[in-house]
Amino acid sequence: MNLFKRFEEAFMGNYGVPPVALARGEGTRVWDVDGKEYLDFIGGIAVSSLGHAHPALVEAVSRQVATLAHTSNLFLHEPEVLLAEKLLGMLDAPARVFFANSGTEANEAAYKLALKHGRREGRSYFVAAENGFHGRTIGALSLTGKKAIRDQFGPFPVDVRFVPYGDADALKETMTGDCIALFLEPTQGEAGVVPPPVGYLEAAREICDSTGALLVADEIQSAIGRTGHWFAHQADGVTPDILTLAKGLGGGLPIGACVGFGDVGRSFEKGDHGSTFGGNPVSCAAALAVLDNLDLGHVRSVAARLRDGLEAVDHPLLESVRGRGLWLATVLREPRAAQVQEAAAAAGFLVNALQPDAVRLAPPLVVTADEVDALVASFPRILTEAAA
Ligand SMILES: *Cc1c(COP(=O)(O)O)cnc(C)c1O
Repeated sequence: MNLFKRFEEAFMGNYGVPPVALARGEGTRVWDVDGKEYLDFIGGIAVSSLGHAHPALVEAVSRQVATLAHTSNLFLHEPEVLLAEKLLGMLDAPARVFFANSGTEANEAAYKLALKHGRREGRSYFVAAENGFHGRTIGALSLTGKKAIRDQFGPFPVDVRFVPYGDADALKETMTGDCIALFLEPTQGEAGVVPPPVGYLEAAREICDSTGALLVADEIQSAIGRTGHWFAHQADGVTPDILTLAKGLGGGLPIGACVGFGDVGRSFEKGDHGSTFGGNPVSCAAALAVLDNLDLGHVRSVAARLRDGLEAVDHPLLESVRGRGLWLATVLREPRAAQVQEAAAAAGFLVNALQPDAVRLAPPLVVTADEVDALVASFPRILTEAAA
């Protein structure tokens, strides 16, 4: 029986059956189980920041797994301390960190940290953005503004009020001195790679300051060089109170992080939170390899090349290109993203039909100029096939 059929019979239905079965990768290139080669322009959803099988990642992970793979949090280990110090050194203000295994767990930590901090002041509700995505566990899901994945699992244990993303006046109207925290993605990822209007994050920071609410920047998708900055909020000169990270941090190994700035980072007391696997030595070694081997200058130059190349494509199906850095959505004039994804795969490119009318590109941050040029050159033909 083929792999797809076996997948379908063994797995729950939540993913459907993915269209391609991957076997191995090298850099931006991946091969499926039949040996067909693709250029990977989705990178495991902005995760494989160093590409596939990067020698530094392979070496770091192999060495660590052969030395000490797990300690639990009953014992500390050097890789976690090195990683924490490294991350904190990349930020603009003093902070403290908690390591988790995934994005949603990073947000659970943020949620509990904010709740603990806010309840001391008698605060009672969160604010988050419509169409925002913060994860699938109940805390993170309660903050997620996508009705289709949220509503059937409610009601949720806390009051979350949703506002349209990018609308500073709506924030002003909704946030009072009772608000615990505002959860925002600096650019919305799952909503379709949607950057906010200029000045929005600064306005959000000001409103948080005037109401005393915490600003939580969910940078699970936007951080670790994805936008051409280590952290997307740095481009806007806005420092959040809490920052969450995951996807690109481990370069494919599972790790998430919740960073609390200033006093907020001191809110948890012994016993308040934990994770058996969080910050395990192997994932920390992987993250250190990622941070040591990324080149933001390269990211910016290939990102500009990709964006300019796609913007120069003149095709009736292509409406616009939006996003930041190596994190773009090509927006279509008709809801044919699924057909674009399929035509791209047939042409040897992995892309992601993110919304009915938006195709996401988030290649490894080591993608080369030649690989970018190859996608750009094929894009008109892919669009024509998708439109047919
Ligand atoms: C992917 C994502 C999450 C959830 O991360 P998981 O590792 O899938 O739990 C949360 N927030 C944002 C912005 C994301 O892109």
